[in-house]
Amino acid sequence: MRIRALIAVVGLWLTAFAVDAVAVTQVKSMRLWRAPDNTRLVFDLSGPVEHSVFTLTAPDRLVIDINGANLATPLKVSTANTPITSVRTAQRTPTDLRVVVDLKKPLTPKSFILAPNQQYGNRLVVDLYDQPADAEPPAPPPTLATTPALPVTPSKPEIKLAPVPNGKRDIIIAIDAGHGGEDPGASGSRGEHEKDVVLSIARELQRQINQEKGFRAELTRTGDYFIPLRGRTEIARKKGADLFVSIHADAAPSSAAYGASVFALSERGATSETARWLADSENRSDLIGGAGNVSLDDKDRMLAGVLLDLSMTASLSSSLNVGQKVLSNIGRVTTLHKARVEQAAFMVLKSPDIPSILVETGFISNSGEASKLQSAAHQQALARSIRAGVKQFFEQNPPPGTYIAWLRDSGKLARAESEHTVRSGETLPMVATRYQVSVSALRSANDLKTDELKIGQLLVIPSAAVAAQP
Ligand SMILES: [Zn+2]
Repeated sequence: MRIRALIAVVGLWLTAFAVDAVAVTQVKSMRLWRAPDNTRLVFDLSGPVEHSVFTLTAPDRLVIDINGANLATPLKVSTANTPITSVRTAQRTPTDLRVVVDLKKPLTPKSFILAPNQQYGNRLVVDLYDQPADAEPPAPPPTLATTPALPVTPSKPEIKLAPVPNGKRDIIIAIDAGHGGEDPGASGSRGEHEKDVVLSIARELQRQINQEKGFRAELTRTGDYFIPLRGRTEIARKKGADLFVSIHADAAPSSAAYGASVFALSERGATSETARWLADSENRSDLIGGAGNVSLDDKDRMLAGVLLDLSMTASLSSSLNVGQKVLSNIGRVTTLHKARVEQAAFMVLKSPDIPSILVETGFISNSGEASKLQSAAHQQALARSIRAGVKQFFEQNPPPGTYIAWLRDSGKLARAESEHTVRSGETLPMVATRYQVSVSALRSANDLKTDELKIGQLLVIPSAAVAAQP
């Protein structure tokens, strides 16, 4: 009797062990992000799973079989403004979950598993790519004739090409709001997310730059979705960018750290420990977003490295130059974390043919600075100072064939002063007279709500007015 009972107990224990060995993973939640050309589904899992994905037509739907898994709670997700009508689930066996995604149109799926990282546990990612309506546009001409395009992320068909230079083309500034989607970037103590703050600043900067005659700004990211680091520079290249400006907000182990910094790429290594730490945390983004497969192809790595070194020298000195101008302008609206342009090995700045800088607008981990970073007035001031630095750089170094180069060559930029620091006793009409601009142009260029000026206040002088000077 006792032996039989023992066998029964062992049997039960073995059964329990066998079920446990299969390790039923729980699907805890599903998140959804809509990008301009794809929709990303992210399943948060309690452990690893096997999976398969296939599509069915009439009606269009996608089937995701997740083996060794069951549902912890019903999946709740908003499918508004996506090509998805609904998401249904069914347990095919106690350990096999089927997710059916009903689609409004055919989409091309690509799926992969992500291992746990600092922010998330195991994840299954399914990217649903929109199918191009038209044929793919031809590749843009390379900016440097000797620099073939490096292998990067697959080209996205709907990205429009920049107009062909026609003697007075606009200078194009690619503004890159860091992070996005399931990669929130740094976080503040009250739940502020870097990805949101930097998108607001990027949009404001775009608005301001587009007011400047001879300049046009393009955003790499226009909403809350993830773009791999290499994908960001690829978008900039397709837009024909003359400069790449990546906007970020820091976090630091010490909540007391504050102030803005500007970074350029270093091929040799970071100039400071902070730069190294930051580069590590910013570069981690691709691990979070799962873009580990976009690095340069191994067999091309040597060649790419050589080309990168050759063409980097020119754009690196430009990057340091524009970086210093942006930094000194930012220093007028906020405290600087470091007084000179720092250099670190940021993946996002590795664009061989486009001068690139990364602006850390402040520390979101510092509660005082986090509040400032979220205020519209401070975002406008930061954008204004970045715009001023960028403009100063291009007025001194206009690319050939641009309107700004034409202005300079015809002597119309000779007396250009793009900004003015208010002195004691000066009024807005006095400044307007001095630069031969209208008071209203000054008001709108500086977003002034009142005509009252403060001593030391920085005013931007509109460039159209500068150009009109003899
Ligand atoms: Zn960042």
